[in-house]
Amino acid sequence: MEDGVVIIGAGHGGVQAAASLREEGHQGPVRLIGDEQELPYHKPPLSKAFIKDKEAKPQILRADAFFSGANIDLLLGESVKSLDPAEKRLTLASGATLAFDKAILATGSRPRILPVEGGPLKGMLSLRSIADARAIRELAYSVEDVVVLGGGFIGLEIAATLAASGRKVTVVEAQDRLLARVLPAAISSHVASRLTAAGVRLLTGTTVGRIDGENGHVAAVITSAGERISARMIIVGIGVVPNVELAAEAGIATANGIRVDQRMQTSAPDVLAIGDAASYRHWMTGGDVRLESVQNATDQARLAARTITGHDESYSAVPWFWSDIGDMKLQMVGLTGGSDRQILSGDPAENKFSVFHYKGDRLLGIESVNRPADHMLGRKMMGLGFTPDATVAAAGSDALKAALADWQSKQAAPA
Ligand code: NAP
Repeated sequence: MEDGVVIIGAGHGGVQAAASLREEGHQGPVRLIGDEQELPYHKPPLSKAFIKDKEAKPQILRADAFFSGANIDLLLGESVKSLDPAEKRLTLASGATLAFDKAILATGSRPRILPVEGGPLKGMLSLRSIADARAIRELAYSVEDVVVLGGGFIGLEIAATLAASGRKVTVVEAQDRLLARVLPAAISSHVASRLTAAGVRLLTGTTVGRIDGENGHVAAVITSAGERISARMIIVGIGVVPNVELAAEAGIATANGIRVDQRMQTSAPDVLAIGDAASYRHWMTGGDVRLESVQNATDQARLAARTITGHDESYSAVPWFWSDIGDMKLQMVGLTGGSDRQILSGDPAENKFSVFHYKGDRLLGIESVNRPADHMLGRKMMGLGFTPDATVAAAGSDALKAALADWQSKQAAPA
């Protein structure tokens, strides 16, 4: 491959794709294009440690020396304006063009915007990039009242962080419970009671009626219920939209993301897509999904590199995810939509429990609060295709470990 592989997007997925291409023995050029000036960095700490500590530095994904050592051409501060899959050529915003043999779209997603009557106001911030996190951190320590719009992972992680540093925080969530898109009611209500105890005010079933400004800066949120809440800072965490425009304009099929097959191949030959931007049929459920997680981005990156280096394998990673909200480490494994039976293990009063989801006699997934052993065992069990009995699930991680070991020994035994 003379022109090599070009990877568009230098987030978790893009960086992993570049590294995996080299690990898989790809010899030709690898170009990784990112539109930020910074060395690619870890995103999860941005909503927690980074905004908590004024001195915190970005945690880079790989050192500069890694890219030069692996002969990966890292183009920072560059964005791709257009892509021509037939000619295998792309055009950068600077006007330069690049030829490629294979392209990987790792374009990610961006925060949904909340339009404000009269135009944007200062103090209204979303979080995606390190620049966003710096802006939040700078303002957070000079204001008292913060309103967080959206009770998803982003909103709640930031709400807990800012409340712990003494801000008066109100969360406004449209759904009738927190984390409604991603977690069951039992965990939502647990998270709600702990956040309330930590001083966060929660308004569910509520949206924004209006945002009032003063001299171009936010001053208050008027809720759909008519309440006026003073706020010198508004965090908008109302979800993300996948960055599909580059693909769509290139004639590549999209449907809630850039469509890919089980090998991460898009509808255009030699163009692959991975991560937040990619939608695909999930091997576990048979349904179409677009997963927004570091695990999904990095596992798809590994597979894309294998596809490019001549392997014919299907995506079969078990999905998992985590979030730290105040004193709760939430860990999720599997896809739990469609579960018809939930088993509780542990005690919510101790802030340590897991919910095991079953459909019929099959384990669909586990959601844990401060029970990392359940989560790690869950990843192992689901990877192997083992479903524990509900009584074993309820009994805790020692019983699970024993049941898994027993099952594995039977699998290994000759028939
Ligand atoms: P999210 O999980 O989609 O949650 C956003 C919430 O805001 C939804 O419940 C949504 O309700 C609600 N909402 C929408 N419009 C609203 C409005 N006008 N007023 C009040 N509430 C409104 O998205 P997110 O929390 O913004 O997270 C963004 C992305 O970052 C996700 O991909 C997430 O997975 C990722 N993330 C990852 C981590 C981690 O790895 N630990 C941490 C944080 C975030 P509707 O469903 O009705 O729209």
